[in-house]
Amino acid sequence: MRQPPITLIGAGLVGALLAQQLARRGIAVDVFEKREDPRHGDAGAGRSINLALAERGLEALRRSALTDEVLQAAVMMRGRMVHGLDGHVDLQRYGLDDSEVIWSVSRHALNTMLLDAAEAAGARFHFGQTLVDADFAQRRIRLADGAGMEREADAATVIGADGAGSMLRALMDRRVPLGARVETLGHGYKELEIPTASALPPGLLPAGSAGRFALEPNALHIWPRGHYMCIALPNVDGSFTVTLFLPNRGPAPSFEQLPDAASARAFFAAQFPDLLALIPDFSRDYDRHPVGTLSTLYLQRWHLQASAVLIGDAAHAMAPFYGQGMNCGFEDATILCDLLAAEPADRTGVFAEFQRLRQPDTDAIAALTLENYIEMRDSVVDPHYLVKRELSARLTELAPQHYMTCYRMVSFTDLPYAYAMQRGKAQDAVLEELLRGATSIRDVDVHAAAATLRARLPPLPVRRHG
Ligand SMILES: Cc1cc2nc3c(=O)[nH]c(=O)nc-3n(C[C@H](O)[C@H](O)[C@H](O)COP(=O)(O)OP(=O)(O)OC[C@H]3O[C@@H](n4cnc5c(N)ncnc54)[C@H](O)[C@@H]3O)c2cc1C
Repeated sequence: MRQPPITLIGAGLVGALLAQQLARRGIAVDVFEKREDPRHGDAGAGRSINLALAERGLEALRRSALTDEVLQAAVMMRGRMVHGLDGHVDLQRYGLDDSEVIWSVSRHALNTMLLDAAEAAGARFHFGQTLVDADFAQRRIRLADGAGMEREADAATVIGADGAGSMLRALMDRRVPLGARVETLGHGYKELEIPTASALPPGLLPAGSAGRFALEPNALHIWPRGHYMCIALPNVDGSFTVTLFLPNRGPAPSFEQLPDAASARAFFAAQFPDLLALIPDFSRDYDRHPVGTLSTLYLQRWHLQASAVLIGDAAHAMAPFYGQGMNCGFEDATILCDLLAAEPADRTGVFAEFQRLRQPDTDAIAALTLENYIEMRDSVVDPHYLVKRELSARLTELAPQHYMTCYRMVSFTDLPYAYAMQRGKAQDAVLEELLRGATSIRDVDVHAAAATLRARLPPLPVRRHG
């Protein structure tokens, strides 16, 4: 059966991927995007902002036949490179080997590839068109261009991929309350840049800098400092995008107390001296780049019968600490597309099923994300955490059918996020018991520990490899 057309709002990462997947299924799709076409103009020449791509995102890209193209423009990250205040560095691997890695990819490059692929598959894009109103009963939407000129368009079914501040969500909520709850984290972020090694005086390059990269390229770098941290992800051109996460208000250090580069420089010199040395344009970056806000969005209702549904950040924006927002949105797109293809005549049923399937998982990854912030900024240098990591590594070897870290389940499998969270907590409880009174891995009989784990927990579900 031929599907009625779909109107998509937002051609960001999730909207562009969904448009491609729908068009490949032969569904007519019109996409309205507020920005001008990012493939034209100088959008690409600006800041290099990157994201971590993991298995869920890769699986969606495989379905879109885009994996090779995307990975060619990505940098592999094997683990966290933890930078202590004393300059000591320690690589904590994420997975077992190089089949379990995450990838740093440029947001702009990825968006460009997705737009090209969606257009080639037949999706129609309308850039510079902002959704401003919707009449769901009349199946019409209203759009404004950059000059404020408004026009209407038919829209029997609208999918909102218009991000955390979704206008479609606000319009749906006006019709039927969606039960939105936004929890702000109280911490914000600011992006800075480490340029390619050739742009830095040679004397400044640390040990471990490789070729055009000023730091080890195949890692996600973290400078954990308790209540705050910096991270850096590599870019293919040899630069790194650095993100400072800090409380918004309150006593120093907070963005309120460090409003400009002059005040922030002294703070960096004390807390991140090795990093500061690698950011020659620190003052320019700090003063020009805005402080981004971080919050989690929970919605009771994601759809209005067959008229409208939300996806990606529009439905479940989360903080970035697990690097899963886009990965989760890509997984959403594949699931929604499959449901639409399976039930072409029942969009109300499809949208209800989409929420029923996804919401427990998106709630779980939102919760895991908040826990991971504490792990990244604090626990990674905690002695108990480090002993637990060692036991975890031994159990991974000795009881692979019964033990897999939560991070590996989230990042390297397609096991549902809710399962990963629940299983992770059950494993953690056993590990804590096994470690009671232990200060070193030598205090634990690892073979007995593996036997305990096997006795307590059922085997893990068989993992599907990509
Ligand atoms: C600092 C930071 C780091 C992150 N790191 C990672 C990471 O490492 N890995 C990961 O998986 N995720 C990461 N994320 C999350 C990721 O960025 C988001 O989950 C992802 O961008 C969501 O995609 P989206 O398409 O739903 O929304 P968006 O990317 O926000 O796209 C929404 C689109 O809708 C358009 N739009 C908005 N309003 C309208 C309107 N009224 N009319 C028409 N168009 C409109 C916007 O212009 C935009 O193009 C990070 C987020 C942040 C803030």
